[in-house]
Amino acid sequence: MEFSSKLLENAVYEMSQLPGIGKRTALRLVLHLLKQPEAQTRLLSEALTNLRDEVNFCKSCNNISDTELCEICANPKRDKTLVCVVEDIRDVMAIENTSQYHGLYHVLGGKISPMEGIGPHDLNIVPLVNKVKEGSIKELIFALSSTMEGDTTNFYIFKQLEGLDVVTSTIARGISVGDELEYADEVTLGRSILNRVPFENSIKAD
Ligand SMILES: [Zn+2]
Repeated sequence: MEFSSKLLENAVYEMSQLPGIGKRTALRLVLHLLKQPEAQTRLLSEALTNLRDEVNFCKSCNNISDTELCEICANPKRDKTLVCVVEDIRDVMAIENTSQYHGLYHVLGGKISPMEGIGPHDLNIVPLVNKVKEGSIKELIFALSSTMEGDTTNFYIFKQLEGLDVVTSTIARGISVGDELEYADEVTLGRSILNRVPFENSIKAD
């Protein structure tokens, strides 16, 4: 792609670094921004810069939060004995949208994926095991997507918990294999949390 301006080229290049944005889409977006009032672009860039500078992760569950403890963890009405283990923040949002779940979350920040060079120590697993060791959690619900990486991650955590006094369950797989949680509709997802099954059963079924 030949550019008439280095400034334009740079903006398009940076935009095209985003997932799912090719060079052509990047160019379209950048030209769109140029047509908008200048203040609009400034608001966008300020929102991103502020997010980057000030973003904070809940010290308990690793959810993005403006406070040390996120609103979910800090809510006295939530059941603190129940923890739903999810891959990322989008899953927290998807499950919250169902209004069917009243426990807490634990955000791993990804899945174990040897192909992508992501091992257990790149994820937020040790703090989870430590939380279970503290003894206040009665049940962990694995809610990772049912991909090979999701299953590997569930199983790894399950093995880490051996000998600890905690029930492990997995969301019922009304969601078809390979579907990401964020794409599941709210009714299906809500139901799959309510109809969760003991984790041991899910290994035998495979
Ligand atoms: Zn939290």
